[in-house]
Amino acid sequence: MPPMSIPADIIANMQDESFWSRLEATVVFRITKVGSGIMPQVAAASRKQGKTGSLEQRIADRCEMARMGVKLATAMGGTALLEAGPGPHRNPPTVDGMMYCLDMVDSIIRRDYPRRKPDMVKLPYLLKRIRHLLRVFYDFHVGKRLHPDLTLCDWPQMFNVGITLHRVGLCLQLDPPRLRAAMDVGGRELETFLLDDELDVGDFRKAALVIEKRVAADVEAEDSNRMAAGEAETAAEKDLAAHVLAWFLGDIAVAFVMHEHAGSADDEKRWASKAMDRLVHWSTSKTLRLTLGDTLTDAMRPIYWSTPLLIKFSHAGGLGALFGDWINSACKDLCEDVLKKLPDEAWEKQTPASLVAVTRELQQKLEDETPDLAVSFLYIIYNSSCTSRRYHWFNMTISARWDCLEFYGCCAEGCPEKDALEGLREVRVRGVREKEVEARLDAWGGKVKACAACGETAYCSAGCQRADWEKHKPECLKKRKLARR
Ligand SMILES: [Zn+2]
Ligand SMILES: [Zn+2]
Repeated sequence: MPPMSIPADIIANMQDESFWSRLEATVVFRITKVGSGIMPQVAAASRKQGKTGSLEQRIADRCEMARMGVKLATAMGGTALLEAGPGPHRNPPTVDGMMYCLDMVDSIIRRDYPRRKPDMVKLPYLLKRIRHLLRVFYDFHVGKRLHPDLTLCDWPQMFNVGITLHRVGLCLQLDPPRLRAAMDVGGRELETFLLDDELDVGDFRKAALVIEKRVAADVEAEDSNRMAAGEAETAAEKDLAAHVLAWFLGDIAVAFVMHEHAGSADDEKRWASKAMDRLVHWSTSKTLRLTLGDTLTDAMRPIYWSTPLLIKFSHAGGLGALFGDWINSACKDLCEDVLKKLPDEAWEKQTPASLVAVTRELQQKLEDETPDLAVSFLYIIYNSSCTSRRYHWFNMTISARWDCLEFYGCCAEGCPEKDALEGLREVRVRGVREKEVEARLDAWGGKVKACAACGETAYCSAGCQRADWEKHKPECLKKRKLARR
């Protein structure tokens, strides 16, 4: 896909205060109603950025933000991370158990650094062990799958596991020489764990996704199939292995992006590029956003705090994450500040894919209350001229095409085919998908031709163009003049 720039008038519209207040009026209440007591605290802590004080103080500040994020999520009926591991709590903890591994990692990286620097060679083993025990636990928790290592799942609260790793991740992030030391001593194995290994989302989430796709693709699917897909998803959502690890893995990925500069060594450039790819992928992929949620958002804060980093992140395709976090996350206020001041530069080099991610975020959240708003936002983003209309039509997802019926295809008011399709859309929402109907939409939206005189306004047929001519004439003359300038 060729990169494209957002036209200046659209950026101007985005920066218009009334646009935001209009949009805000419909979305903000979701969080403020429920989490109104916690939200200002999170916002205040987040604005402080944990930039002052000793390393330990800055780590503590950031951990406090995470703690409040979980509190907020819990208040809103989200994940509380209260689960205790079924293994016996011993003091000292069982060797190779979760508490043992966490303590070792914390000692090597944080408490006893630099004395234990040579022990950093053990990090890949310990971290893999932690990931494995999370998997063992959630396979049991979600699917009642038994594994002998369940006895090594000996934590009192899942939150402790996540926050301990977050603390260690932050320690590496805020002390670049320490991160460098870990990478040098930990070697390729550590790099693979931190920057190459796929996220372990678990079999249940994977299965739920396959079921969902199958049902969506099946034109014969019935309500019972949809229900089953929904149930599979609900069960899978209890698998938080990746969610808990996202604090740590996110911290580290952000660290590599933060510390890359013009004079970086080759390996640092490689780390930064892998890290950026991960962050963009994790934070904009529809399914991973759901899986990682607040913990990744927490880790993302430094990107949102720094304009140069944010521009880099936007150019790499990450704008959707910023919108998603603005609409619904503990980082909401921070993201709102950032979005209002988003420099024009950040909108450059966008690909259709990254813009679709932006609109998808808006669509998902706005659908219930204000369908028109999401559609108009899509329109703001996509509408520039007729030729790009067609171009974007082909780049949009099927459901986005249906959502944007009003803005694509034929421009004639009262186009009979558009009216017919709007009628069909109603039926389609209720779950009936027919190949002929989809083909009809494609034929209408994908084959429009521009008015030969101005080259902009599009019609599906000669009939529609004739019917619209009286209305289009003055506009057409204006457009022709503009085109000549
Ligand atoms: Zn028409
Ligand atoms: Zn015209």
